[in-house]
Amino acid sequence: MKVHEYQAKDILARYGVAVQPGIVARTVEEAVAAAKQLQAEGGTELFVIKAQIHAGGRGKGGGVKLARGIEEVREKAGAILGMMLKTHQTGPEGQKVRAVLVADAVDIAKEYYLGVTLDRQRSMNVIMASTEGGVEIEKVAEETPEKILKEWVDPAIGLQPFQARRLAFGLGLEGKAFKQAVRFITALYRAYEESDASLAEINPLVLTRAGDVLAVDAKLNLDDNALFRHEDLAALRDIHEEDPLEVEASEHNLNYIKLDGNVGCMVNGAGLAMATMDLIKLAGGEPANFLDVGGTASPDTVEAGFRIILKDPNVKAILVNIFGGIVRCDRVATGIVEAAKKVEIDMPLIVRLQGTNAEEGKRILEESGLKIETAILFHEAAEKVTRALSGVTA
Ligand code: GDP
Ligand code: MN
Repeated sequence: MKVHEYQAKDILARYGVAVQPGIVARTVEEAVAAAKQLQAEGGTELFVIKAQIHAGGRGKGGGVKLARGIEEVREKAGAILGMMLKTHQTGPEGQKVRAVLVADAVDIAKEYYLGVTLDRQRSMNVIMASTEGGVEIEKVAEETPEKILKEWVDPAIGLQPFQARRLAFGLGLEGKAFKQAVRFITALYRAYEESDASLAEINPLVLTRAGDVLAVDAKLNLDDNALFRHEDLAALRDIHEEDPLEVEASEHNLNYIKLDGNVGCMVNGAGLAMATMDLIKLAGGEPANFLDVGGTASPDTVEAGFRIILKDPNVKAILVNIFGGIVRCDRVATGIVEAAKKVEIDMPLIVRLQGTNAEEGKRILEESGLKIETAILFHEAAEKVTRALSGVTA
Protein backbone atom coordinates (compact mmCIF):
# COMPACT_ATOMS: atom_id res chain seq x y z
CA MET A 1 0.00 0.00 0.00
CA LYS A 2 1.21 3.46 -0.88
CA VAL A 3 0.71 6.53 1.29
CA HIS A 4 0.88 10.22 0.45
CA GLU A 5 3.97 12.35 0.97
CA TYR A 6 2.47 14.20 3.94
CA GLN A 7 1.56 10.90 5.60
CA ALA A 8 5.01 9.45 4.95
CA LYS A 9 6.62 12.56 6.43
CA ASP A 10 4.41 12.30 9.54
CA ILE A 11 5.38 8.66 10.04
CA LEU A 12 9.08 9.32 9.46
CA ALA A 13 9.10 12.33 11.79
CA ARG A 14 7.84 10.07 14.60
CA TYR A 15 11.07 8.10 14.23
CA GLY A 16 13.21 11.21 14.36
CA VAL A 17 13.76 11.63 10.62
CA ALA A 18 14.27 15.34 9.86
CA VAL A 19 11.54 16.50 7.48
CA GLN A 20 10.57 19.84 6.01
CA PRO A 21 7.73 21.28 8.15
CA GLY A 22 4.36 21.29 6.40
CA ILE A 23 0.59 21.00 6.81
CA VAL A 24 -1.88 19.20 4.56
CA ALA A 25 -4.84 21.16 3.14
CA ARG A 26 -7.93 20.06 1.22
CA THR A 27 -9.31 23.48 0.30
CA VAL A 28 -7.78 26.84 -0.64
CA GLU A 29 -8.88 28.30 2.71
CA GLU A 30 -7.19 25.45 4.55
CA ALA A 31 -4.02 26.07 2.51
CA VAL A 32 -4.02 29.76 3.48
CA ALA A 33 -4.58 28.86 7.15
CA ALA A 34 -1.76 26.32 6.93
CA ALA A 35 0.65 28.92 5.52
CA LYS A 36 -0.28 31.38 8.28
CA GLN A 37 0.29 28.73 10.92
CA LEU A 38 3.69 27.80 9.47
CA GLN A 39 4.66 31.47 9.49
CA ALA A 40 3.57 31.85 13.10
CA GLU A 41 5.72 28.84 13.98
CA GLY A 42 8.85 30.50 12.64
CA GLY A 43 8.54 29.98 8.90
CA THR A 44 9.33 32.56 6.24
CA GLU A 45 7.36 34.21 3.44
CA LEU A 46 8.31 31.47 1.03
CA PHE A 47 6.24 28.30 0.76
CA VAL A 48 6.01 25.30 -1.48
CA ILE A 49 2.61 23.93 -2.49
CA LYS A 50 2.69 20.26 -3.38
CA ALA A 51 -0.01 18.09 -4.95
CA GLN A 52 -0.68 14.99 -2.86
CA ILE A 53 -1.09 12.08 -5.25
CA HIS A 54 0.65 8.74 -4.96
CA ALA A 55 2.48 9.01 -8.27
CA GLY A 56 5.97 10.49 -8.43
CA GLY A 57 7.23 13.08 -10.90
CA ARG A 58 4.79 15.70 -9.62
CA GLY A 59 7.27 18.55 -9.99
CA LYS A 60 7.68 18.07 -13.75
CA GLY A 61 3.92 17.71 -14.18
CA GLY A 62 3.24 21.10 -12.54
CA GLY A 63 2.17 19.73 -9.17
CA VAL A 64 4.92 21.39 -7.08
CA LYS A 65 5.03 25.19 -6.97
CA LEU A 66 6.83 27.79 -4.89
CA ALA A 67 4.65 30.57 -3.46
CA ARG A 68 5.86 33.87 -1.98
CA GLY A 69 3.41 35.29 0.54
CA ILE A 70 -0.15 34.38 1.45
CA GLU A 71 -1.76 35.65 -1.76
CA GLU A 72 0.46 33.43 -3.88
CA VAL A 73 -0.35 30.48 -1.62
CA ARG A 74 -4.02 31.13 -2.33
CA GLU A 75 -3.41 31.34 -6.06
CA LYS A 76 -1.10 28.31 -6.40
CA ALA A 77 -3.18 26.10 -4.08
CA GLY A 78 -6.25 27.07 -6.10
CA ALA A 79 -4.52 26.06 -9.32
CA ILE A 80 -3.25 22.71 -8.02
CA LEU A 81 -6.29 21.56 -5.99
CA GLY A 82 -8.72 19.76 -8.27
CA MET A 83 -6.34 19.56 -11.24
CA MET A 84 -5.86 16.31 -13.17
CA LEU A 85 -2.14 15.91 -12.62
CA LYS A 86 -0.29 13.94 -15.28
CA THR A 87 3.13 12.47 -14.54
CA HIS A 88 5.11 9.58 -16.01
CA GLN A 89 3.65 7.43 -13.23
CA THR A 90 -0.05 8.26 -13.68
CA GLY A 91 -2.18 7.02 -16.55
CA PRO A 92 -2.65 9.33 -19.58
CA GLU A 93 -5.76 10.86 -17.99
CA GLY A 94 -3.80 11.80 -14.84
CA GLN A 95 -4.84 11.70 -11.21
CA LYS A 96 -7.18 14.17 -9.54
CA VAL A 97 -5.52 16.26 -6.81
CA ARG A 98 -7.65 16.25 -3.65
CA ALA A 99 -5.11 17.65 -1.21
CA VAL A 100 -1.98 19.76 -1.18
CA LEU A 101 0.89 19.89 1.26
CA VAL A 102 1.77 23.45 2.22
CA ALA A 103 5.37 23.48 3.43
CA ASP A 104 8.07 25.95 4.39
CA ALA A 105 10.21 26.28 1.27
CA VAL A 106 13.68 24.94 1.87
CA ASP A 107 16.71 26.91 0.71
CA ILE A 108 18.40 24.04 -1.12
CA ALA A 109 22.20 23.90 -1.51
CA LYS A 110 22.34 20.34 -2.85
CA GLU A 111 19.97 17.47 -3.57
CA TYR A 112 20.74 13.82 -2.75
CA TYR A 113 18.97 10.51 -3.04
CA LEU A 114 18.42 8.09 -0.17
CA GLY A 115 16.35 4.92 -0.30
CA VAL A 116 15.77 1.70 1.60
CA THR A 117 14.27 -1.38 0.02
CA LEU A 118 14.57 -5.15 -0.05
CA ASP A 119 17.26 -6.70 -2.23
CA ARG A 120 15.57 -10.00 -3.02
CA GLN A 121 18.67 -11.51 -4.59
CA ARG A 122 20.70 -11.04 -1.44
CA SER A 123 17.73 -11.54 0.92
CA MET A 124 18.75 -8.38 2.75
CA ASN A 125 17.52 -4.84 3.02
CA VAL A 126 19.68 -2.41 1.11
CA ILE A 127 20.22 1.28 1.77
CA MET A 128 21.07 3.26 -1.34
CA ALA A 129 22.47 6.76 -1.41
CA SER A 130 23.51 8.99 -4.26
CA THR A 131 24.74 12.51 -4.90
CA GLU A 132 22.50 12.45 -7.98
CA GLY A 133 19.34 13.45 -6.14
CA GLY A 134 16.16 15.06 -7.39
CA VAL A 135 16.31 13.13 -10.68
CA GLU A 136 14.89 9.74 -11.55
CA ILE A 137 17.04 7.25 -9.72
CA GLU A 138 16.24 4.57 -12.33
CA LYS A 139 18.14 6.68 -14.86
CA VAL A 140 21.14 7.01 -12.56
CA ALA A 141 21.09 3.25 -11.96
CA GLU A 142 21.11 2.62 -15.70
CA GLU A 143 23.58 5.23 -16.89
CA THR A 144 25.97 5.75 -13.97
CA PRO A 145 25.45 2.87 -11.53
CA GLU A 146 28.76 3.69 -9.80
CA LYS A 147 27.09 6.82 -8.45
CA ILE A 148 24.78 4.78 -6.25
CA LEU A 149 26.33 3.75 -2.93
CA LYS A 150 24.88 0.68 -1.26
CA GLU A 151 24.96 -0.82 2.20
CA TRP A 152 23.30 -4.16 2.82
CA VAL A 153 21.90 -4.74 6.27
CA ASP A 154 22.41 -8.16 7.78
CA PRO A 155 18.99 -9.10 9.23
CA ALA A 156 20.60 -10.88 12.16
CA ILE A 157 22.62 -7.91 13.40
CA GLY A 158 20.77 -4.91 11.98
CA LEU A 159 22.14 -1.66 10.64
CA GLN A 160 25.60 -0.98 12.03
CA PRO A 161 26.66 2.58 12.89
CA PHE A 162 29.70 2.35 10.59
CA GLN A 163 27.40 1.64 7.64
CA ALA A 164 25.44 4.85 8.18
CA ARG A 165 28.75 6.74 8.54
CA ARG A 166 30.14 5.19 5.36
CA LEU A 167 27.07 6.32 3.40
CA ALA A 168 27.18 9.87 4.82
CA PHE A 169 30.89 10.03 4.08
CA GLY A 170 30.32 8.70 0.57
CA LEU A 171 27.90 11.57 -0.07
CA GLY A 172 30.75 13.95 0.73
CA LEU A 173 29.10 15.42 3.81
CA GLU A 174 31.16 16.96 6.60
CA GLY A 175 30.82 18.35 10.12
CA LYS A 176 27.29 19.10 11.28
CA ALA A 177 25.73 17.84 8.03
CA PHE A 178 27.64 14.55 8.34
CA LYS A 179 26.33 13.98 11.87
CA GLN A 180 22.79 14.88 10.82
CA ALA A 181 22.98 12.53 7.83
CA VAL A 182 24.11 9.62 10.02
CA ARG A 183 21.19 10.27 12.36
CA PHE A 184 18.86 10.62 9.36
CA ILE A 185 19.92 7.33 7.79
CA THR A 186 19.65 5.48 11.12
CA ALA A 187 16.17 6.87 11.82
CA LEU A 188 14.97 6.21 8.26
CA TYR A 189 16.11 2.60 8.45
CA ARG A 190 14.34 2.10 11.77
CA ALA A 191 11.15 3.63 10.39
CA TYR A 192 11.35 1.35 7.33
CA GLU A 193 11.84 -1.75 9.43
CA GLU A 194 9.30 -1.02 12.17
CA SER A 195 6.53 0.06 9.82
CA ASP A 196 7.07 -3.07 7.66
CA ALA A 197 7.74 -0.96 4.61
CA SER A 198 8.83 -2.34 1.26
CA LEU A 199 10.25 1.01 0.18
CA ALA A 200 11.27 4.19 1.97
CA GLU A 201 12.60 6.73 -0.48
CA ILE A 202 13.78 10.28 0.06
CA ASN A 203 14.29 12.05 -3.24
CA PRO A 204 15.52 14.63 -2.74
CA LEU A 205 17.25 14.49 0.58
CA VAL A 206 18.68 17.99 0.80
CA LEU A 207 21.50 19.91 2.30
CA THR A 208 20.22 23.40 3.06
CA ARG A 209 22.28 26.58 2.68
CA ALA A 210 22.32 26.72 6.48
CA GLY A 211 24.05 23.32 6.44
CA ASP A 212 21.19 21.12 7.66
CA VAL A 213 20.10 17.79 6.22
CA LEU A 214 16.38 17.10 5.76
CA ALA A 215 13.77 15.36 3.63
CA VAL A 216 12.01 17.50 1.05
CA ASP A 217 10.15 14.57 -0.47
CA ALA A 218 9.23 11.20 1.05
CA LYS A 219 7.79 8.02 -0.38
CA LEU A 220 6.78 5.10 1.80
CA ASN A 221 5.29 1.86 0.49
CA LEU A 222 3.93 -0.50 3.11
CA ASP A 223 3.76 -4.27 2.86
CA ASP A 224 0.06 -5.17 2.52
CA ASN A 225 0.66 -8.49 4.24
CA ALA A 226 1.89 -6.75 7.39
CA LEU A 227 -0.86 -4.11 7.61
CA PHE A 228 -2.86 -6.26 10.03
CA ARG A 229 -0.37 -5.34 12.72
CA HIS A 230 -0.39 -1.61 11.95
CA GLU A 231 -3.97 -0.46 12.33
CA ASP A 232 -2.92 3.19 12.35
CA LEU A 233 -1.05 2.79 9.05
CA ALA A 234 -3.80 0.73 7.42
CA ALA A 235 -6.15 3.66 8.10
CA LEU A 236 -4.06 5.84 5.76
CA ARG A 237 -5.30 3.97 2.70
CA ASP A 238 -6.65 6.32 0.01
CA ILE A 239 -9.10 4.43 -2.18
CA HIS A 240 -9.28 7.34 -4.64
CA GLU A 241 -5.84 6.23 -5.79
CA GLU A 242 -6.99 2.69 -6.50
CA ASP A 243 -8.94 1.15 -9.35
CA PRO A 244 -12.66 1.16 -8.30
CA LEU A 245 -13.08 -2.48 -9.34
CA GLU A 246 -10.11 -3.48 -7.20
CA VAL A 247 -11.62 -1.62 -4.25
CA GLU A 248 -14.94 -3.44 -4.70
CA ALA A 249 -13.13 -6.77 -4.98
CA SER A 250 -11.21 -6.19 -1.77
CA GLU A 251 -14.52 -5.59 0.01
CA HIS A 252 -15.48 -9.15 -0.94
CA ASN A 253 -12.03 -10.50 -0.01
CA LEU A 254 -11.36 -11.28 -3.65
CA ASN A 255 -7.85 -11.04 -4.96
CA TYR A 256 -8.50 -9.06 -8.17
CA ILE A 257 -6.16 -7.11 -10.38
CA LYS A 258 -7.53 -5.31 -13.40
CA LEU A 259 -5.72 -5.83 -16.70
CA ASP A 260 -6.35 -4.52 -20.21
CA GLY A 261 -7.55 -7.63 -22.08
CA ASN A 262 -10.92 -8.98 -23.23
CA VAL A 263 -11.33 -12.32 -21.44
CA GLY A 264 -12.46 -12.11 -17.86
CA CYS A 265 -11.36 -14.99 -15.67
CA MET A 266 -12.32 -16.37 -12.31
CA VAL A 267 -10.09 -18.97 -10.73
CA ASN A 268 -9.41 -20.53 -7.35
CA GLY A 269 -5.78 -20.31 -6.33
CA ALA A 270 -3.15 -17.82 -7.45
CA GLY A 271 -1.02 -20.37 -9.29
CA LEU A 272 -3.95 -21.68 -11.30
CA ALA A 273 -4.99 -18.07 -11.99
CA MET A 274 -1.57 -17.39 -13.49
CA ALA A 275 -1.76 -20.56 -15.59
CA THR A 276 -5.25 -19.56 -16.73
CA MET A 277 -3.98 -16.19 -17.92
CA ASP A 278 -1.36 -18.05 -19.97
CA LEU A 279 -4.12 -20.29 -21.31
CA ILE A 280 -6.14 -17.28 -22.43
CA LYS A 281 -3.13 -15.87 -24.26
CA LEU A 282 -2.49 -19.22 -25.88
CA ALA A 283 -6.10 -19.19 -27.09
CA GLY A 284 -5.50 -15.84 -28.79
CA GLY A 285 -7.11 -13.67 -26.14
CA GLU A 286 -5.79 -11.27 -23.57
CA PRO A 287 -6.75 -11.63 -19.89
CA ALA A 288 -8.98 -8.81 -18.64
CA ASN A 289 -8.03 -9.48 -15.06
CA PHE A 290 -6.39 -11.68 -12.49
CA LEU A 291 -9.00 -13.02 -10.09
CA ASP A 292 -8.39 -15.52 -7.35
CA VAL A 293 -11.64 -16.30 -5.51
CA GLY A 294 -9.83 -18.33 -2.88
CA GLY A 295 -9.99 -21.97 -1.92
CA THR A 296 -13.70 -22.25 -1.18
CA ALA A 297 -15.38 -20.56 -4.20
CA SER A 298 -18.76 -20.15 -2.46
CA PRO A 299 -21.88 -18.97 -4.38
CA ASP A 300 -21.47 -15.51 -2.82
CA THR A 301 -17.87 -15.07 -3.88
CA VAL A 302 -18.65 -16.43 -7.35
CA GLU A 303 -21.51 -13.97 -7.71
CA ALA A 304 -19.35 -11.06 -6.54
CA GLY A 305 -16.67 -12.20 -8.97
CA PHE A 306 -19.09 -12.19 -11.92
CA ARG A 307 -20.40 -8.74 -11.01
CA ILE A 308 -16.90 -7.29 -10.89
CA ILE A 309 -15.78 -8.93 -14.13
CA LEU A 310 -18.91 -7.72 -15.94
CA LYS A 311 -18.33 -4.10 -14.90
CA ASP A 312 -15.24 -4.05 -17.07
CA PRO A 313 -16.53 -2.90 -20.50
CA ASN A 314 -13.65 -4.62 -22.35
CA VAL A 315 -14.72 -8.12 -21.36
CA LYS A 316 -16.03 -10.19 -24.29
CA ALA A 317 -15.98 -13.68 -22.75
CA ILE A 318 -15.55 -15.23 -19.31
CA LEU A 319 -13.51 -18.27 -18.38
CA VAL A 320 -14.07 -19.88 -15.00
CA ASN A 321 -11.36 -22.35 -14.04
CA ILE A 322 -11.88 -24.11 -10.73
CA PHE A 323 -9.97 -26.96 -9.24
CA GLY A 324 -12.05 -28.95 -6.78
CA GLY A 325 -9.72 -29.89 -3.99
CA ILE A 326 -11.07 -28.72 -0.66
CA VAL A 327 -14.25 -27.63 -2.40
CA ARG A 328 -16.14 -30.20 -4.50
CA CYS A 329 -16.87 -29.38 -8.15
CA ASP A 330 -20.59 -30.15 -7.83
CA ARG A 331 -20.89 -27.50 -5.11
CA VAL A 332 -18.99 -24.99 -7.22
CA ALA A 333 -21.21 -25.81 -10.21
CA THR A 334 -24.32 -25.19 -8.10
CA GLY A 335 -22.80 -21.89 -6.97
CA ILE A 336 -22.09 -20.86 -10.57
CA VAL A 337 -25.63 -21.75 -11.66
CA GLU A 338 -27.12 -19.76 -8.76
CA ALA A 339 -24.89 -16.79 -9.47
CA ALA A 340 -25.47 -16.90 -13.23
CA LYS A 341 -29.22 -16.75 -12.61
CA LYS A 342 -28.85 -13.59 -10.53
CA VAL A 343 -26.26 -11.83 -12.64
CA GLU A 344 -27.11 -11.41 -16.27
CA ILE A 345 -24.18 -12.74 -18.27
CA ASP A 346 -24.71 -11.72 -21.89
CA MET A 347 -21.51 -13.18 -23.30
CA PRO A 348 -19.90 -16.58 -23.74
CA LEU A 349 -19.23 -18.25 -20.40
CA ILE A 350 -16.80 -21.15 -20.36
CA VAL A 351 -16.45 -23.16 -17.19
CA ARG A 352 -13.72 -25.68 -16.58
CA LEU A 353 -14.09 -27.84 -13.49
CA GLN A 354 -11.45 -30.37 -12.55
CA GLY A 355 -10.88 -32.42 -9.43
CA THR A 356 -13.31 -33.94 -6.95
CA ASN A 357 -16.73 -34.66 -8.55
CA ALA A 358 -15.78 -32.88 -11.79
CA GLU A 359 -18.13 -34.99 -13.94
CA GLU A 360 -21.01 -34.32 -11.58
CA GLY A 361 -20.25 -30.61 -11.69
CA LYS A 362 -20.18 -30.63 -15.47
CA ARG A 363 -23.56 -32.38 -15.55
CA ILE A 364 -25.10 -29.77 -13.22
CA LEU A 365 -23.91 -26.98 -15.51
CA GLU A 366 -25.14 -28.72 -18.65
CA GLU A 367 -28.55 -29.46 -17.19
CA SER A 368 -29.02 -25.96 -15.80
CA GLY A 369 -30.50 -24.66 -19.03
CA LEU A 370 -28.04 -21.78 -18.95
CA LYS A 371 -25.76 -21.02 -21.85
CA ILE A 372 -22.58 -22.36 -20.34
CA GLU A 373 -19.78 -24.08 -22.21
CA THR A 374 -18.15 -26.73 -20.09
CA ALA A 375 -14.73 -28.29 -20.15
CA ILE A 376 -12.73 -30.64 -18.00
CA LEU A 377 -9.37 -30.58 -19.73
CA PHE A 378 -7.20 -27.49 -19.99
CA HIS A 379 -6.95 -27.62 -23.80
CA GLU A 380 -10.73 -28.05 -24.17
CA ALA A 381 -11.16 -24.84 -22.23
CA ALA A 382 -8.59 -23.10 -24.43
CA GLU A 383 -10.34 -24.23 -27.63
CA LYS A 384 -13.68 -23.00 -26.34
CA VAL A 385 -12.23 -19.61 -25.45
CA THR A 386 -10.73 -19.34 -28.94
CA ARG A 387 -14.05 -20.22 -30.51
CA ALA A 388 -15.91 -17.79 -28.28
CA LEU A 389 -13.55 -14.99 -29.29
CA SER A 390 -14.02 -15.68 -32.99
CA GLY A 391 -17.78 -15.53 -32.42
CA VAL A 392 -18.40 -19.20 -33.34
CA THR A 393 -19.76 -20.40 -30.02
CA ALA A 394 -20.68 -24.02 -30.59
P1 GDP B 1 8.28 14.89 -7.17
O1 GDP B 1 8.49 15.65 -8.42
O2 GDP B 1 6.94 14.23 -7.14
O3 GDP B 1 9.38 13.93 -6.89
O4 GDP B 1 8.25 15.97 -5.96
P2 GDP B 1 9.42 16.56 -5.06
O5 GDP B 1 8.90 16.77 -3.71
O6 GDP B 1 10.64 15.71 -5.14
O7 GDP B 1 9.70 17.98 -5.69
C1 GDP B 1 10.25 18.11 -6.98
C2 GDP B 1 11.34 19.13 -6.98
O8 GDP B 1 10.84 20.40 -6.58
C3 GDP B 1 12.47 18.84 -6.01
O9 GDP B 1 13.45 17.98 -6.54
C4 GDP B 1 13.03 20.23 -5.77
O10 GDP B 1 13.96 20.56 -6.78
C5 GDP B 1 11.81 21.13 -5.92
N1 GDP B 1 11.36 21.52 -4.57
C6 GDP B 1 10.49 20.85 -3.80
N2 GDP B 1 10.36 21.43 -2.60
C7 GDP B 1 11.20 22.49 -2.61
C8 GDP B 1 11.54 23.50 -1.66
O11 GDP B 1 11.07 23.54 -0.52
N3 GDP B 1 12.44 24.44 -2.05
C9 GDP B 1 13.01 24.44 -3.27
N4 GDP B 1 13.88 25.38 -3.57
N5 GDP B 1 12.71 23.50 -4.20
C10 GDP B 1 11.82 22.54 -3.88
MN1 MN C 1 10.73 13.55 -5.42
